[in-house]
Amino acid sequence: MLTRLASPTHEEVYRVEDHASGLRGFIALHSTRLGPAAGGLRMRVYEGDDAALEDVLNLSHGMSYKNAAAGLPLGGGKAVILGDPARDKTPALLRAMGRAINMLQGRYWTAEDMGMSPEDMAELARETRFVAGLDCGAHASGDPSPVTARGVLAAMRAGAAQLWGTDTLSGRHVAVQGLGHVGWHLCHLLHEAGAKLSVADMNPAHADSTVREFGATMVDPRTIHAVDADIFAPCAIGGVLNARNIPEIGAKMICGAANNQLATPEDAERLRARGILYLPDYVANGGGIINVAAEILRISPRAPWVEERLGAMQARMAHILTRATGEDLSPATLADRMVEEQLLQVAV
Ligand code: NAD
Repeated sequence: MLTRLASPTHEEVYRVEDHASGLRGFIALHSTRLGPAAGGLRMRVYEGDDAALEDVLNLSHGMSYKNAAAGLPLGGGKAVILGDPARDKTPALLRAMGRAINMLQGRYWTAEDMGMSPEDMAELARETRFVAGLDCGAHASGDPSPVTARGVLAAMRAGAAQLWGTDTLSGRHVAVQGLGHVGWHLCHLLHEAGAKLSVADMNPAHADSTVREFGATMVDPRTIHAVDADIFAPCAIGGVLNARNIPEIGAKMICGAANNQLATPEDAERLRARGILYLPDYVANGGGIINVAAEILRISPRAPWVEERLGAMQARMAHILTRATGEDLSPATLADRMVEEQLLQVAV
């Protein structure tokens, strides 16, 4: 079922196959230096095995950085299944993946990602205990989105303090792109904090509810990045900051939940050259993994533990921004360096 593949960059990489259920996928453990590798299970259609392998390698690498930046005793891992979740996902296939994860004996912990639901996590849990993001059970963490949104808000406050000398968001104009699970909660928090909202979503129903409930102004999704706001909050998809649209960005700060917001690493420098403060995405959106970590680590009571880590995350973001200014680097480059220093300090 598991075939180990050689990797110069990752600690362990496996091809996963189960002929009876039709399961084809990969599991990658990028690093277990800080603790068991943790990161979600994604199911989607890929062009082929090479594309799926590249995705799992990149995503597990990213999880090492995200978990380290969140101050968690967890390493980076990820798993992918090749297939259309709507057509190919069956209980037998999920249980086969659960057995594969179980064979790693806790060196990899999985959770929900694209193409997966809490019900699917429950199916995996019939075969392995190394699964988080469950809806019920003693330590179940449920939907991470509200905590992710709180983390993004905390990061925004750190950015506001750096840019404007005060962390209050009252009266600030925030342009939010994507009003799904995280975007909607973020709008709620920003509204409560007294911010003015401009919003956009490809799904008009999602935008309608924020207009109705938070008095937001609806904007065309093609131009939300160009709104003359204080803060642009990407909460939809990756790659939204790129060479084509960076010249059009209207905000002075960017801070949102979306993963991999920069299309290329050079885009961090493009933003810096324009005087736009970009808050590294994997630091700003770490609230979700903090929430999941409480389940993995069986923390009880979870609320104060999560609270403490969200506070530490805001402090870390403030530290990154101050150090980046001092060292004349983009916050994205500085955040990467800090994680690399942190990983080097841990004995193998
Ligand atoms: P979601 O699928 O619930 O919401 C995404 C929303 O973005 C949807 O309403 C969709 O219609 C909209 N959208 C898609 N493309 C768009 C575009 N081009 N312009 C405007 N709107 C667009 O997802 P989510 O759980 O809210 O996550 C949002 C982002 O945050 C994703 O990148 C996700 O990987 C990242 N993230 C989420 C969490 C979490 O806790 N859910 C944690 C960390 C990171």
